[in-house]
Amino acid sequence: MRVLIYSDVHANAEALAAMAEAAAGAYDASLCLGDVVGYGANPNQTTAWVREHTPVVIRGNHDRACASLDGIQWFNPAAAAAARWTHAQLEPANLAWLQTLPAGPLPWENHCLVHGSPLDEDEYLMEAVQAAGAFAATPARCIWFGHTHVQGGVALLQSGGESTLETLPSAASAAGPGAPPAVRRFPLEPGARYLINPGSVGQPRDGDWRAAFVLLDEEQGWVEFHRVPYDLAAAQARILEAGLPMKLAQRLAAGR
Ligand code: ZN
Repeated sequence: MRVLIYSDVHANAEALAAMAEAAAGAYDASLCLGDVVGYGANPNQTTAWVREHTPVVIRGNHDRACASLDGIQWFNPAAAAAARWTHAQLEPANLAWLQTLPAGPLPWENHCLVHGSPLDEDEYLMEAVQAAGAFAATPARCIWFGHTHVQGGVALLQSGGESTLETLPSAASAAGPGAPPAVRRFPLEPGARYLINPGSVGQPRDGDWRAAFVLLDEEQGWVEFHRVPYDLAAAQARILEAGLPMKLAQRLAAGR
C-alpha cells in the first residue's frame, strides 16, 4: 500500500491542485496532518477537496481557530485577520466539518499522526533535542507531524544498545521561479523509528516555495519527499483580491 501524507494546505487551492495532479494514481490511502485552511484565499475549495479525497484528517491550530475563533488571541495580526476572514467565508458544511476534526495524536496502523507534537498540537518541533520527548510519547514506528511548514525529520537508529538520531534528506532547495519538481527518497531501516514532517503544501517555510508532500511505501521500505511547482502568481493574486494582508502573498514566493 502506498500512502500520500500531507499537511498545512492553508487554503492554497493552486498548490493543492499541483499536489493532487503530481500524486494522482500513485497512492492507495491518504492522511492529512491539519491546517487545511487559514492564511490563503480558497478555504472552501481546499476543504471540499480534503473532505472528498482524504478520509483520515486531524485538525491543526488554524482549523481550530478558523472554525471556532478559539485560540485566535495567540495569533499574529495577519494570521488573526485571515482566521476571521476564513470563518466568515466558510460554507456551513465546510465549517461543520472543520469543527468536528479530531485533535491529534491519532493512531493510524503503526503510525502516529500529530499536528504539532504528540505532547501538544501547538508545539513546534524544530530541534533534534525535542525528538526524544516525541518518541517517548508514543510506541508508533513513525510519527508524522506538520505545523512548522519545514519538510524533513529524523530517524532514531538502534545499534549495539546505542541509539542515534540521523537527519533525513528533504527535497527542499533554493528553487527559483520555474524550478521543476524534485524528489528525495530514503529507505526505512528495519528497527528504526521516524519523526517525519511532509512539509507544507500551501505555505512552505523552508526556503523552497514549491508545494511539499510525502509518499510512503512500507512494503517496499521507502519514503519520498516531494516538491512540485504550482501557479504561485494565481495564489498570490487571490490573496490580494480577497483583501487579506499583502505579506501573506509575498511570503509564498520566498517560501518563508
Ligand atoms: Zn500551519
